[in-house]
Amino acid sequence: MTEISASKFGESAAAAVRSPDFLQKILDATRECVLIVDSDLRVSNWNAPAERAFSRPGMEIGGRRLTEVIRDLDLHSAYRKAISTGEASDVRLELIGAERRKFDVHVAPIELDGFRQAIGFFYDTTQIERLESVRQEFLSNISHELRTPLTSILAFVETLEDGAFEDPENNRRFLATIRRNAERMNNLIADILELSLIESGKVSISKRPVRLRDLVEEIFINLASKAKEREISLVNKVSAKTLPTADPGRLEQMLINLVDNAIKFNRRGGSVTVSAEQTSGGISIYVVDTGEGILPEHLGRLFERLYRIDRARSREIGGTGLGLAIVKHLARLHGGEVSVRSTLGEGSTFSIELPAK
Ligand code: ADP
Repeated sequence: MTEISASKFGESAAAAVRSPDFLQKILDATRECVLIVDSDLRVSNWNAPAERAFSRPGMEIGGRRLTEVIRDLDLHSAYRKAISTGEASDVRLELIGAERRKFDVHVAPIELDGFRQAIGFFYDTTQIERLESVRQEFLSNISHELRTPLTSILAFVETLEDGAFEDPENNRRFLATIRRNAERMNNLIADILELSLIESGKVSISKRPVRLRDLVEEIFINLASKAKEREISLVNKVSAKTLPTADPGRLEQMLINLVDNAIKFNRRGGSVTVSAEQTSGGISIYVVDTGEGILPEHLGRLFERLYRIDRARSREIGGTGLGLAIVKHLARLHGGEVSVRSTLGEGSTFSIELPAK
């Protein structure tokens, strides 16, 4: 550790350290709100974040009663306790205004200018709690997604054990259902692992110019039988000259997801067209389908994990609900973005925008 002596700062720095508003400037520069009240429970000092969080138009917080600034019984009691008994305490505070904010507040006694006052530090926990609720919701959705095929597997195993095993007409059919459900669980777990790897930043990409036309052709070959089952024609409109800079494996993964969806959510006899164009910022790749389209209220949420318009239908046609979330993360890993626009009854266009380098 390097020791820095006062003399190293020179005259002006030393003067700044001694300036009377030194402490106020530090408090104003923190992220947490600080509110000090005197023995009458009136605000005697505060910092800039507190001013932003607690003042209302036309209302100065200095000199106001604490109850006028923040109406919360527990908070009020914590400040009163700090002043009257000298005890520190912690309270949770929720502010319901234009936006809902939550705080962990630490209230402690403090002696200022020879008078007992109380200081509160407000740690904003809104974002942490929001993330926690997203995490819990994801966990509960995932458990549900895994339980559905598992319940089905157990039911069919039981039926086989109860005698269907001896019935040659049904035993193969039941085994096929068990396999389909086990595969669904397997795909879901593979996607969860993939997503968590990408989200934790453990996936690195290595970019180089990719022959997009050839890549799309390969994807079409791999998905040809699926498209044929639904009589969907696959159209590759990418020019041979289009060479986006991307990680070839990851770009393939993104396009497989989008083309696979475009086949799954298409109408019988429809088409899926992939095209690309040079833009000012790089290259945009479009996957266009002639499916039923997506209602505007769903568009903003499609890229969330496990968000599906019709859960039962998506499950039935073999979706995990994680594909678009994976595409979003991979696009961002490239410094790009993915977006969607759709016209009900006509179809949807998913676009991947990739930067030039
Ligand atoms: P899934 O595994 O269910 O396909 P995705 O994350 O890939 O999960 O997609 C999420 C949801 O978005 C789908 O369940 C479907 O409701 C909707 N969706 C995706 N692609 C299309 C599309 N091309 N046309 C209509 N809806 C789509």
